[in-house]
Amino acid sequence: MQLYNTKSRQIEEFKPREEGKVSMYTCGPTVYHFAHIGNLRTYICEDMLVKTLDYAGYDVKRVMNITDVGHLSSDADTGEDKMLKGAKREHKTVLEIADYYTKAFFDDFAKLNIKMPDVVEPATHCIPEFIHMIEVLLEKGYAYQAGENIYFDTSKLEKYYTLSNHNEDDLRVGVRDDVDEDSNKRNKTDFVLWFTKSKFDDQELKWESPWGRGYPGWHIECSCIGIKHLGEYMDIHCGGVDNIFPHHTNEIAQSEAYLGHQWCNYWFHVHHLVEKDKGKMSKSSGEFLTVSLLQEKGYDPLAYRFFCLQSHYRKPLEFSYEVLDQMSAAYQKLLKRVGELKEDGEVDEKAFAEYREKFLNALTDDINTSMAITVLYDVLKADMNDSTKRALVADFDKALSLDLLEGSKKQSEDNAVDSELEAWILEQIDARKAAKKNKDFALADQIRDELLAKGIVLEDTREGTKWKKV
Ligand code: AMP
Ligand code: ZN
Repeated sequence: MQLYNTKSRQIEEFKPREEGKVSMYTCGPTVYHFAHIGNLRTYICEDMLVKTLDYAGYDVKRVMNITDVGHLSSDADTGEDKMLKGAKREHKTVLEIADYYTKAFFDDFAKLNIKMPDVVEPATHCIPEFIHMIEVLLEKGYAYQAGENIYFDTSKLEKYYTLSNHNEDDLRVGVRDDVDEDSNKRNKTDFVLWFTKSKFDDQELKWESPWGRGYPGWHIECSCIGIKHLGEYMDIHCGGVDNIFPHHTNEIAQSEAYLGHQWCNYWFHVHHLVEKDKGKMSKSSGEFLTVSLLQEKGYDPLAYRFFCLQSHYRKPLEFSYEVLDQMSAAYQKLLKRVGELKEDGEVDEKAFAEYREKFLNALTDDINTSMAITVLYDVLKADMNDSTKRALVADFDKALSLDLLEGSKKQSEDNAVDSELEAWILEQIDARKAAKKNKDFALADQIRDELLAKGIVLEDTREGTKWKKV
């Protein structure tokens, strides 16, 4: 399998540490609001990585955190805690907000057929582990106390900018005189491991620690939760590209300082969903699109998954309703074609193996999902019996997760219900017309009311009676 590694900035042959097994960590959501469809693009692409590994026969263990404390408005540890902002906005407690939006996040996972991680761990459940890691970092001289906070000392590392192109000399130039910058830091890239004092002292959740009552910084949670569930080494760490710096850079700094060796081999980053003229979709802007909103507008959430799979995860994806409409129509057409496949004989094992190989090659070529979908269309066009095509569609859908067989069945059932309903409505309209002609207005009104009770409204026009659903 070929996979792009942000660490080496090139495509590499993927080799897990233990044959046949993959340990994988995913940065989870900050649960102060609904996930937007940009966040979910990242999770759909990560899901395709998991499904590709599953499809290729690996046994994957995936861990995800839930950020329910410590993520400040700016990734550079400044500003107000995002969770607290959410709680204030909705006049609820931080834990109520966290529960509500965690549930909403996984409801979106279900709608988009994203597989649940094997372990999901909220940051607030791991405070003793965070404290332990910070104690070790202090003992080893990688951390210091200043003001009333504990900081990681980035100048103690041989190399800090492991994932980005920043210049190492830049590291020691001292603190910027930016008003928002924390004046306790010895180096401008140092970051908070534990806060007991921030400018925003009204933090709702605080815990006892050797350094006083306080709360953890954001980066420490992913290092600790990853090590807690996957051990001292992990194969793949995932996130959106905005996580590369400072979040993942800081995770590497503190994990490797704590462990005393290299931690994670492959770094997988998904590019952003962007909007024309607006740029990156973001939660903090307050204006963003959710899966529920797309559903309210009549889109199937899996049409959005199909839209995401048509582009490569290492390219920004521009969202527009125009393109979503095209993708949605293409998805419905695909379901229709799949629905037309009959059970018409034996599966041709040779053809099956040949196309399975092509599909696997597309996915294992740095998760080329659009190429994998092209192989699916090739199958539908190919000269082979329908049974073989159906078997291949079912097999590919283990990875694509587009409900191709179930969706096509549902589509034809919906169409059958729709045409039956329409025939019945037209009968009722005729009966009402006849009743009116016979001056039986009571019957005519009764028919209209019966239709209304079923959500069908009639409108008498010059061209005749029309109906619509409400
Ligand atoms: P958050 O809930 O803000 O911590 O973000 C959850 C995940 O979504 C992270 O992996 C981010 O990198 C990712 N993300 C944030 N904004 C976007 C976007 N516009 N497009 C794709 N992924 C995003
Ligand atoms: Zn993280």
